[in-house]
Amino acid sequence: MGYKFERLPQLIDMRGKLPHKGQYNMRNGGVKAITTRVWHHSLTKLNLKGSNVHAFADYHVRTNGWPEIGYALVIDPNKVINGRAAIYYCVDIAKKSYHVGNSNNFSLGICVIGDYRYDKLSEPAMRSIAELHDALAADGIGKEDKSHNEMPGYAWKQCCIYDYEKAIGFLKGKKPEALPATYKVQEGDTLWSIAQKDGPDGITVEDLIVANPGINPRGLKVGQVINLGKAQYAFTRKPDEPKKPQSSYRFPLPEGILKKGDRGEKVKQLQRALDAVYFRPGAIDGIYGAKTEDAVKRFQSVYLPYEVDGVYGPNTMEKLKAVLKSKGY
Ligand SMILES: [Zn+2]
Repeated sequence: MGYKFERLPQLIDMRGKLPHKGQYNMRNGGVKAITTRVWHHSLTKLNLKGSNVHAFADYHVRTNGWPEIGYALVIDPNKVINGRAAIYYCVDIAKKSYHVGNSNNFSLGICVIGDYRYDKLSEPAMRSIAELHDALAADGIGKEDKSHNEMPGYAWKQCCIYDYEKAIGFLKGKKPEALPATYKVQEGDTLWSIAQKDGPDGITVEDLIVANPGINPRGLKVGQVINLGKAQYAFTRKPDEPKKPQSSYRFPLPEGILKKGDRGEKVKQLQRALDAVYFRPGAIDGIYGAKTEDAVKRFQSVYLPYEVDGVYGPNTMEKLKAVLKSKGY
């Protein structure tokens, strides 16, 4: 008997076996109270020694002063069982564990070990995300999935970063569900994040702008209704072009981190790319000065609202690459 997810062969029951100091209260309303499966990453790089459930439990108990580890379930890509990342069952799902503040009672915390600003989601990890998701859904545990930073009050959090929706669909390679005709703006949304709900090859920011004349892309308000209905057809999309090496793109993007004070060809590449997508950096002079920093900040405020620091890094690069692509470059 019991739940389907508990019978996954890669699941390892660690309930009660991790460092703890007392235990969490039960959820008000029991397991039925769970509406949302919340996806996290541990923000600790996979190759670090402390990237394991014991270390997380220790940290949550000793440093945060919580009774137990924060996540009910932890997926560990470092431990692969039969082509699947191990899933540690850490806190009974009937208990209200701490991971999303005021939303804990109705949220189930699932963490994938790794820092996906740097790490890459492995196939065994995606397989376990998909299988765990499908089993939980079949068990009726939760009705929807969200990343940590889609939860109220956490828009600033760099969690989960990895594409949990893609991972959830990994097994079927299935398309995300059909979009409703309109969408109500939630806290932390940008046109970019709304467009992403349709998957990377679906609606673009440009589609949304065209479908919503008069909209202010930088001033979305919570509760504002965005028209999605005709968006897919509003912008003429080019068929997928074959993949080219990055160097043959018109605006190749530099790897690594660039910030104020940096100089050189990489800065020039960044400036050209920003200029191409209308975030004017001033002169294309290879100097990361105040104007370039400001352009990066403006770009981030539209596309990476939880990461507006004026520093060009991997996340900014990924978004910039996608925006260039959406403009046909
Ligand atoms: Zn998180």
